[in-house]
Amino acid sequence: MTLTASETAAALTRPLTGRVAIVTGSTSGIGLGIAESLAEQGAAVVLNGFGDPAQIEQTRETLSALYGVEAAYSPADLSMPEQIAEMIAFAHDALGPVDILVNNAGIQHVAPVAEFPTAKWDAILAVNLSSAFHAIKAVLPSMVERGFGRIVNIASAHGLVASPFKSAYVAAKHGVVGLTKTVALETARAGVTCNAICPGYVWTPLVERQIADQARAHGMTHEQVVTDVLLTAQPNRRFATVEEIGALTAFLCGRHGASVTGAALTVDGGWTAH
Ligand code: NAD
Repeated sequence: MTLTASETAAALTRPLTGRVAIVTGSTSGIGLGIAESLAEQGAAVVLNGFGDPAQIEQTRETLSALYGVEAAYSPADLSMPEQIAEMIAFAHDALGPVDILVNNAGIQHVAPVAEFPTAKWDAILAVNLSSAFHAIKAVLPSMVERGFGRIVNIASAHGLVASPFKSAYVAAKHGVVGLTKTVALETARAGVTCNAICPGYVWTPLVERQIADQARAHGMTHEQVVTDVLLTAQPNRRFATVEEIGALTAFLCGRHGASVTGAALTVDGGWTAH
């Protein structure tokens, strides 16, 4: 393939130019941060997730205008396997074959295991674990055929260690780490990498909701939940940022990430070093 001078310059300064990425759960929080990082590096991006349609459209337009990339939006509900297949087909039709899949959508519920609502267990397993399986299954044949693919699964420190009251979340995230390793082994010689990122606490709406829930459940103030419950596990005592997770994802998706596969990369301020 011969590149023009401007294509060569774009490829050097924005290494994901020409790539098509899907980031699930990217209307908010970490997913939005990742979508921004990939767009900044030149990738066309399919956004996904729930939210106010006008706000989502504004996010899509801003991303496209700011970084000069194509951006599309799929409203697929990732608890529904058939909607995941539709999202992958939509991405292909709108932007081209999918080079980068970031499985990020996730939900949380906190309760003791004996009181954990079965419907919440089923929903968390569906969104946090099974959706990654369905999306990977749908994109992989085309990635293998084209000899290139990058799959990044946003797991959690809770994919490596547990905390009380988070049985479904911890089970799902441990499952994501296992799925990551299996996919990495199956695709190791196909030009495809599959990795998990395991953040500790990152400041996002999901964490803000958890703080409110825990404050109610334990009769604590928001500040007490932050300092005495959440950040006690995180030795550096700071929330990670969505930009930090986005930058690591972009690295994994670029050419220097080619040999990193099957890894569970922690971004947890030393939490799992205990
Ligand atoms: P968030 O609540 O801010 O964002 C979650 C995103 O997922 C939103 O876009 C939401 O619309 C989408 N979503 C939820 N259910 C969906 C469904 N059924 N179908 C499609 N989209 C759906 O949460 P966040 O903190 O940004 O978390 C993102 C991911 O990072 C999750 O997998 C979470 O488990 C993981 N994580 C977060 C933290 C943290 O501290 N925030 C730490 C470790 C791991």
